[in-house]
Amino acid sequence: MRKGTLYVFTGPSGAGKGTLLSRLQEQDDRLFYSISATTRAPRPGETDGVQYYFLSKAEFEEKIAQHAFLEYACYVENYYGTLEAPVNEKLEQGFDVVLEIEVQGAMQVHEKRPDAVMVFIAPPSFEELAARLRGRGTEDEEKVLKRLETAKEELKQQERFDYVIVNDELDRAVEELRNILAKRRT
Ligand code: ADP
Ligand code: 5GP
Repeated sequence: MRKGTLYVFTGPSGAGKGTLLSRLQEQDDRLFYSISATTRAPRPGETDGVQYYFLSKAEFEEKIAQHAFLEYACYVENYYGTLEAPVNEKLEQGFDVVLEIEVQGAMQVHEKRPDAVMVFIAPPSFEELAARLRGRGTEDEEKVLKRLETAKEELKQQERFDYVIVNDELDRAVEELRNILAKRRT
């Protein structure tokens, strides 16, 4: 059986990665979304094992010591990481696997898995990014500012990616992503 393709979706917080991915997944049963581990606290409505595996710092560091992560990074004072075993298992089964991760982790995957398809999701402008992040209402203003500070650095990295999708008009951006997936499946 043909192995699946590994996709990395990155881009600043608030660009719309999660929104785009859920739209993509709706009509694609060959796509497996990798559930990351994190030390950040669950948001209201988030469930352990669904959006993330929510770990304590000690639990996360134990997994680092066990080399359980394909990649991990510290992002705005919390760890986030991709567990390697489930990703490999799904790829072996022929599923395409998507990692939705921040830029430092994306570059680690690029080094380790040169075959991974690297996609950067960009906001239409920095102002719109700030408006979306604030509009989402999931972080307090201090955390929003830290995420936006990080975003300035992340946006500088976009030319290192195979594809840059500007998430201005949602339907068009979803279509562009579908086309990228379709191209690899022919
Ligand atoms: P990320 O996963 O990159 O942090 P989200 O998917 O949570 O970003 O999107 C951030 C906010 O922007 C959400 O409130 C979402 O509804 C909104 N959003 C996403 N895509 C668009 C778009 N194309 N136009 C307007 N708002 C959008
Ligand atoms: P949030 O706290 O908004 O869920 O995520 C914050 C940032 O961490 C986002 O840019 C998200 O893509 C990223 N992220 C989520 N999971 C992982 C992961 O497993 N590894 C890395 N490096 N970043 C992740």
